[in-house]
Amino acid sequence: MIKAFFGGTFDPPHLGHFQSIDYIQTTLAIRHIDVLPCHIPPHKVSIANEAARLAMCELFIKTRANLSINTFELEQNAPSYTFDTLQYLRRQFPSDCLIFIVGEDSWQNFTTWYRWQDILSMCHLLVMPRKAQQTMRKNNLLTLPEKGSSLPISINSANIYDILPPNSGNFPKNRKKTHNLDKFKQVSIEQMHQILNNTTHGSVFMTNGSYHDISSTEIRRAIQAKQDVSEWIPEPVLNYIKTNNLYQIGDD
Ligand code: ATP
Repeated sequence: MIKAFFGGTFDPPHLGHFQSIDYIQTTLAIRHIDVLPCHIPPHKVSIANEAARLAMCELFIKTRANLSINTFELEQNAPSYTFDTLQYLRRQFPSDCLIFIVGEDSWQNFTTWYRWQDILSMCHLLVMPRKAQQTMRKNNLLTLPEKGSSLPISINSANIYDILPPNSGNFPKNRKKTHNLDKFKQVSIEQMHQILNNTTHGSVFMTNGSYHDISSTEIRRAIQAKQDVSEWIPEPVLNYIKTNNLYQIGDD
């Protein structure tokens, strides 16, 4: 069985997260996703406290079907390393196919993650496009982590797949990459599912979904500046932010 997890700070959850989830559920046909809010993000400082981020995630998941929240990281009294979370999930689901969903920005920092060499022995990664990678995509480049040229065995031997958009024929043709590894293998969504049905971990899937150029950081800034953010955040989440006076000047 496929178990998909979307980790993040969700400070606050926004349209970018929503669109990623929509693409994964609707186009990639991965039905159920667990939203996994982190406790203490190792790479950034959160502004809203855990209770508020959990409350916003709870409101967020009600905005569409087949979403639930996994509170494992919030319950830990330690930094939320993906490695630790995956060890826990592996113990819980020893023979299931585990998918960890990340944005392309997180993927590019992959080699800075704690025990990153061990991550793909526990799950597949599903990489969603993000704004910073727009230029590279325009130039028909797929991205590898920044230290990709020195990437050791676990990535070299990992299967990195470029998922073709539906009904695309062979488009995009001649997809290049930024580092000197073998060409990415292009697979259809059906072929991706065959891989997921036959393996529990070990592959990286680069998706070709659309992205929305928005981040939680920009939204927090906009709220501080008293700009209208209603296009970017589901209404119940925005009401919660207003009621609880989150992200006001002085909070960061
Ligand atoms: P911040 O601006 O505070 O860094 P963020 O907008 O990146 O936050 P997170 O909650 O940290 O939000 O993101 C969780 C996951 O969702 C990460 O893997 C991130 O790359 C991905 N993500 C965030 N925004 C988008 C977006 N607009 N499109 C696609 N993926 C996104």
